[in-house]
Amino acid sequence: MTDPLRIVIVGGGVAGLILATRLGRSHGRSGRASVTLVDRSLSHVWKPMLHTFAAGTARPDRQQVNFLAQAKASGFSFLAADLDGIDRDARVAVVRPLGRREPDRGPLPPLRVGYDRLVLALGSRANDFGTPGVSDHCVAIDDLASAQTIHARLRDHALAALHHEDELGLAIVGGGATGVELAAELKRAANLLAAYGSPSLPHRFRLALIESGPRLLAAFPDRIAQAASETLRDLGVDVRTGAMVTGADADGFILKDGSRIEARIKVWAAGVRAPDVLARLEGLERSRIGQLVVDEGLRITRDLAILALGDCAGLVDRRTGKTVPATAQAATQQAHHLARHVEAWCSDGPVPAFRYRDRGAIVSLADYNGWGTLGRYTFGGGRLKGLFARLGHALLYRQHQLSLLGPVRGPLTWFVDSLDHLVSPPVRLD
Ligand SMILES: Cc1cc2nc3c(=O)[nH]c(=O)nc-3n(C[C@H](O)[C@H](O)[C@H](O)COP(=O)(O)OP(=O)(O)OC[C@H]3O[C@@H](n4cnc5c(N)ncnc54)[C@H](O)[C@@H]3O)c2cc1C
Repeated sequence: MTDPLRIVIVGGGVAGLILATRLGRSHGRSGRASVTLVDRSLSHVWKPMLHTFAAGTARPDRQQVNFLAQAKASGFSFLAADLDGIDRDARVAVVRPLGRREPDRGPLPPLRVGYDRLVLALGSRANDFGTPGVSDHCVAIDDLASAQTIHARLRDHALAALHHEDELGLAIVGGGATGVELAAELKRAANLLAAYGSPSLPHRFRLALIESGPRLLAAFPDRIAQAASETLRDLGVDVRTGAMVTGADADGFILKDGSRIEARIKVWAAGVRAPDVLARLEGLERSRIGQLVVDEGLRITRDLAILALGDCAGLVDRRTGKTVPATAQAATQQAHHLARHVEAWCSDGPVPAFRYRDRGAIVSLADYNGWGTLGRYTFGGGRLKGLFARLGHALLYRQHQLSLLGPVRGPLTWFVDSLDHLVSPPVRLD
């Protein structure tokens, strides 16, 4: 009997966890392959929800998928570790396991994880373009830990605001969907917090949204960008477009024209770049922002045994000449594509080409408003607005949850969330 093929997936985000779950169910349970997921955290969150965790209007403990539990339920193994390097000749991923060694509490020694196929799904991070002071003074909204940091700082200021009439300044750099959604959600949180003993808090909460381009939401039609700007301004957000940030310090941002925007809490939500670990992998082809260049079968261009998908993969669609966007939508489609064609990429033969289908984009401004454009693959195209756009945004998450948790646990979890929503405060108070 031959040993089962060893498939190692590094990164349990949108793409990696869907793929591990599907392969665990189809190949892991039956012993046709051993499927191992490696991630440096213990649970998965749907990244497009990070702004609600930062504002405190959603609770991360209710919206996480624990990797160990998911592995047990779906037929794969989970290893909590940080990818450090790859020995491509030996087909080994070198990882640093999480946890500490007793009695000296020193780090555990590195582990060498052998693979026949290695799938990299490491995601991306915000790109500060080397702007001075940003790495020291700003929080990038990249992962759950950074969203929790923003929330903890907000909570501290909100607590202080119960006793002092100080102003709180918060500024967000990046007028894409992330920055716009975060600004609206923070305004909602401040309004909700006012009900708990600080009625003047919303007036003392100064929020600026800074964008270097001529308008917000560059990926959306002009009409949607204008409407989003108006909504934010009506909410009291200081929307600055055409404003280039040249530096950050403890007290705020410095703009190219020499002016300043004062802010105690500074969030960087602009640009995308590949994780640093990819730069340490030798001999591989990279895109302008450091992603691993892949062919249309999602194999990296210089090694048939390694595939990349999601934000860390640089793929140009040959038909359109356009780069596939770094979105949850593309990551999800790629994971399903690899799950469908697993036999092809586990052999050395050709893998059917991945074709990105643009199903549109939605931007949701908390409870206030929302807009969406439907791609031609969704009812032939069109627009969404208001409640329908907000529902569409929420449904994307529920669809993701359904594909991970299955037809019983998925809807049950949604039901429990809805009950929780009815009985819990609308904003975190802990
Ligand atoms: C605030 C925010 C809002 C967004 N909103 C939307 C939206 O509305 N619609 C949309 O389509 N897209 C949105 N996106 C983009 C979307 O979230 C990403 O495109 C998507 O999550 C990419 O999926 P991924 O699987 O490639 O990576 P991720 O989901 O980022 O997952 C990467 C995983 O890799 C793990 N990892 C990273 N490095 C290592 C390492 N060295 N070792 C081990 N594990 C590692 C991480 O812990 C993580 O679990 C948003 C992004 C952000 C930040």
